Amino acid sequence: MAMHQTPPTIVEVAIPLPLDKSFHYLVPPSLLEQAQPGKRVLVPFGSRKLTGYLLAFAQTEDCTRLKEIIDVLDSDPLWTDGELEFFRWVACYYLSPLGEVIKTALPAGINPRSAKGSDQAVAGGSRIRREALYLPADGAMPDRALGAKAAQLLELLSTEGEFTATELRKRFGSCSPQLKRLMELGLVRREERELFRDPFRDETVQPDRPRQLNQHQQAALDSLLSRLDSREFSPFLLHGVTGSGKTEVYLQAISHTLALGMSALTLVPEISLTPQLVRRFRARFGDGIAILHSGLSDGERYDEWRRIRRGLVRIVIGARSAIFAPLERIGIIVVDEEHDSSFKQSDGLRYNARDLALVRGRMEGALVLLGSATPLITSQYAVEQGRLGLLTLPERVRGIPMPTVETVAMQGVKGTISARLLQALEETLASGEQSIIFLNRRGFATFLVCSECGQPLTCPNCSVTLTFHRGRGQSVCHYCDFAIPAPGICPGCGCPELKELGAGTERVEHELRELLPHARILRMDSDTTTGRGSHDRLLRRMNDGSADILIGTQMITKGHDFPSVTLVGVINAEASLHMPDFRSSERTFQLLCQVFGRAGRGDTPGRVILQALDPGHYAIQCAIDHDSAGFYRQELEFRREAGYPPFSFLASLALSGTCEEAVEQRAEAAARLLLNIKREQKLRTELLGPAPAPLYRLRGRFRRRILIKSASRSELRRLIVAWRDQRDSSSVREAMDIDPLDM
Ligand code: ADP
Ligand code: ZN
Repeated sequence: MAMHQTPPTIVEVAIPLPLDKSFHYLVPPSLLEQAQPGKRVLVPFGSRKLTGYLLAFAQTEDCTRLKEIIDVLDSDPLWTDGELEFFRWVACYYLSPLGEVIKTALPAGINPRSAKGSDQAVAGGSRIRREALYLPADGAMPDRALGAKAAQLLELLSTEGEFTATELRKRFGSCSPQLKRLMELGLVRREERELFRDPFRDETVQPDRPRQLNQHQQAALDSLLSRLDSREFSPFLLHGVTGSGKTEVYLQAISHTLALGMSALTLVPEISLTPQLVRRFRARFGDGIAILHSGLSDGERYDEWRRIRRGLVRIVIGARSAIFAPLERIGIIVVDEEHDSSFKQSDGLRYNARDLALVRGRMEGALVLLGSATPLITSQYAVEQGRLGLLTLPERVRGIPMPTVETVAMQGVKGTISARLLQALEETLASGEQSIIFLNRRGFATFLVCSECGQPLTCPNCSVTLTFHRGRGQSVCHYCDFAIPAPGICPGCGCPELKELGAGTERVEHELRELLPHARILRMDSDTTTGRGSHDRLLRRMNDGSADILIGTQMITKGHDFPSVTLVGVINAEASLHMPDFRSSERTFQLLCQVFGRAGRGDTPGRVILQALDPGHYAIQCAIDHDSAGFYRQELEFRREAGYPPFSFLASLALSGTCEEAVEQRAEAAARLLLNIKREQKLRTELLGPAPAPLYRLRGRFRRRILIKSASRSELRRLIVAWRDQRDSSSVREAMDIDPLDM
């Protein structure tokens, strides 16, 4: 009689290494019950033990050479089948190993190595409390038997509830013998409980109610709600001028989504820059919100992640990585400021969360709402092609007019502030209102130049000039943080005289303090906002009226709502125009519209004073006229002629290494390989380069780039996949960026 033999159980495991496939392992009988897709497993890999991700049960004929998994690391799956499917899509599209995608998607606080790690990483787990059962009826305690300190402890726990051991130690000093005694007597209990560290712990928010929508907001909301019930993927662009009440539309759409029993995901560019948005969500929805972004500690991030995974919250707000949030039954995905380039991750897995919102939304059958005052050219084109629905908010709420813009030609003007801007600042100050000054460059001078030989001070690691920071007394590289004391002597000729050229926010602040000694001035750029919560402190000082003027870089353009700002000054309007990047006009238009949009959001109309050497460019002119449609038409024409997106798809291969010659050779070899594939497969693709990257040298590494362009996404893809499969290994780093944003 043949023995019945159960076939061995085999699982497919993704490993977070740069490998393009997953691996099969056997599950030993002792782990059979625990092994489940969505859990982490410890596996032997070569001579190492690695944490891998169990993807699925697998069928494979030949299991003689398979190794066994060593352990299952999670008691519950970390992600669902639907999420795994999304990760697979991402891995395939960005040509990244699935293991690395999953690793990117997991919160940093999840300890990858510790066995049963998902539960050990929980902090502050135990609370000490009075045991209710044994409270004597009269409340009187046998003091002598306990000792004075233990009696005090008991008193505190009886009257004020529960504490952690650390909190008790703070109040009483060391008290573990007394605690131990109380526990032995059954008077006090230690309770294991998961605590969720609350990233909002320091603050309370006044609750608010939905506002009565104006006619445009109502029309937009109605279109959204009519699609919400269908549970079909419905992507929309919400194009609303600055201050048109987009956020209110998001809030009400989310509110309806929740009422239907579904959840809502909101992506924002950078949460530290938009605490106001988080506050408005909290005011409307209370504590049922999780926030995810890089400003949280690992522990906080992991806590938020678990709250979402367990379904304790149904609203998630986060920066780009929140697109991977373990949220189920998603009814709506909102992408606020969809044009913002911070949705693109620029290293590791180079994904774009704005694009992935559409992908995840399609998989979930959700509503996707891309909101912006200055939508991407590609989004507007998608509307034209019928791939995105369009909702418009053409006016500001309550009919407040858009700010007027006055241009000042800067030819021959000394310093950074024109007489016209100074006068306007004085007027604004006199009427008790606030001003914003925008200059997209930090530091004091752009750079120092030798007055003898004319050489600027440059970074030894990067191909850029050093920026002079007067306050720090240093010349600093904004890419690698290299710094030398300044002003020093010219390293070229030894001449001790260095001239300051160009201006940054620090210089504007310096000049303004001299011109307006009584004004209360704030500066917001990445030099003044290094500490945790520092953005928020600056923003609060604007909000509570304890500042008159805010000077800043593009950080100040992002969505802030300061009702008392009536004047915006732009120092050098064309600063972002002359970059070697086909998107520089689009970026300039967006930046200017956004910064103009900070003026006149309250009851008094706003005005803008725009200083420029040459304001004639269409990006500047259209921004001045608030002419979004005009800009779109002209820019689209330029893109069509030059064959740039949306009329083509791009990928960029970045090669970098410390040896210049090796990088050059490898770049030539990669270009040859790409060209061969293109010819063999007769692909309609165009190769540009290899050329030095715009920043040719960065942090000591030499960088070359090959740009690949095609009108056909599938042919572009075939080329890249073949390149990936045929290339050999090299010491030169090669990174393929699909849909690159940095040119
Ligand atoms: P946007 O996000 O389009 O820049 P906001 O949503 O920040 O605009 O709205 C600008 C201001 O108008 C906010 O202070 C907001 O609270 C207020 N607001 C929005 N909708 C309404 C409305 N229907 N009635 C009155 N005030 C509104
Ligand atoms: Zn540098």
